[in-house]
Parts: sequence; C-alpha cells; structure tokens
Amino acid sequence: MTLHFNLLTLFPDMFPGPLGQSISGRALENDLWSYRAVNIRDFGHGKHRTVDDTPYGGGAGMVMRADVIEAALLSLPKPGRKIYLSPRGKVLHQKLVEELIREDALTLLCGRYEGIDQRVLDAHEFEEVSIGDYVLSGGEPAALIMMDACIRLIDGVMGNSETAGEESFSNGLLEYPHYTRPAEWTDASGKVHAVPDILSSGDHGKVKQWRNEQSLHLTKTRRPDLL
Ligand code: SAM
Repeated sequence: MTLHFNLLTLFPDMFPGPLGQSISGRALENDLWSYRAVNIRDFGHGKHRTVDDTPYGGGAGMVMRADVIEAALLSLPKPGRKIYLSPRGKVLHQKLVEELIREDALTLLCGRYEGIDQRVLDAHEFEEVSIGDYVLSGGEPAALIMMDACIRLIDGVMGNSETAGEESFSNGLLEYPHYTRPAEWTDASGKVHAVPDILSSGDHGKVKQWRNEQSLHLTKTRRPDLL
C-alpha cells in the first residue's frame, strides 16, 4: 500500500519539510508514500505570474483565481480525492484519516491570502477540511499535519514499538498515561514521584483494566464530547 500526495501550493519548497525526517522520512525513502508539489505560480498570468485578484463585492485581501487553480489541478496525472485545506471545512479527525489512507492519491490545495475563488472549489468538488478552529496564514502547515497523520497509519511505516493500535482516538478515547524508568524520580524541587504500583505488578489483566480506567477518566474530564 502506498499513498501519493499532490500539493497545490505557492510554496512547494515547504514540502516534504518536517516529513522528510524520522518515521515519515524513512517511509518516503522506502516509497511507502510519495508526493508531488506543484507551484501554482507556474500557472499564473503575465510577466509576474499573477495568481490572485481583488474580491468581488469589495473587502480587504486578495483571492486566488479559479482559472489558475484549475490549470494547476489539471496538470496532475493522478489527482485522486481533492481536498481544500480551509478553516471553514469539517475538522480533521482520526476516522477521516483512516478513511483517507485507503485512497491511492490525494490532492491537497493550500490556500493563501483570503482564500480561493469558490467556483473552482465547486466545479471540481473539493472537500473542505480544517485542522482546527483557528486561522493559519496558509494551507501548507495544515497539509503537512494531515499528511503526517495519514503517513504514520500506512502499512509498514511504523515498527512494532511504535504501533498505532492503542492510541488516542483509535478506540474513541484518549490514551492512558505513560511511565518509564526510573521507578522513582526526584524532581528539581526534591519531590519524589513514583510510578503507579500496578504497572510493575506483572499482572497484565490488571494493567489493562487500570489503563482502560485511566483512558475513560481522562476522556471524561478533558474531552467529554468524545463519549
Ligand atoms: N479568509 C479565510 C477565512 O476567514 O476562512 C482565511 C484564509 S487563511 C489567511 C489562508 C489559507 O490558510 C486558507 O485559504 C487555508 O488554505 C489555510 N488555512 C487557514 N486556517 C486553516 C485551518 N484552520 N485549517 C486548514 N487550513 C487553514
């Protein structure tokens, strides 16, 4: 299984960016995912390769032109499922990520300025996806986040020690807390912190139950909306 990402962006050098490192970087070298970053400016108009214009109806800021975005989109040999990263979109969640990795290819349209002329989004049936209720200056960081969430779930990307099976959201709950050596740790103020006894009891059934209880408690207190 491999996943191909097309990025429509004014800043192709932002890719693969952090995804060229660590787990996703190794996976890229091993062809478990691939990407093509298309510079929207290559399809701009005139000497200055203009990609935007003033908004109809007035207002501040500039809007990216429908004809320019369409030309960039049509240059892709394999566009696959088309997503516009946008604060107006449905918020990205783990279930959507699990759905996206079943695609062969995704095209991620990264906006800048005030956004994109609505007509090209409608004409090419872009889905709008947000990474949260805040506004970024461009879609590229949002695309990188979406890509990271997808890549780590591709078969063969994570080793056994990095399995995604029990993580937050995979079972609808937040993950339980983790501890490692030393069993007793003294912080800078001299306070001693012990690891919960149950975790070194060797009783796998009880550890599992304790973790489930912790997951439930954390979810209830921090994210009751998930329950
Ligand atoms: N005028 C737009 C609005 O109010 O909805 C915001 C435009 S923002 C300055 C420029 C670009 O950043 C957007 O076109 C989008 O691609 C991206 N962007 C900003 N916030 C985002 C978010 N929360 N999720 C995904 N993409 C986002």
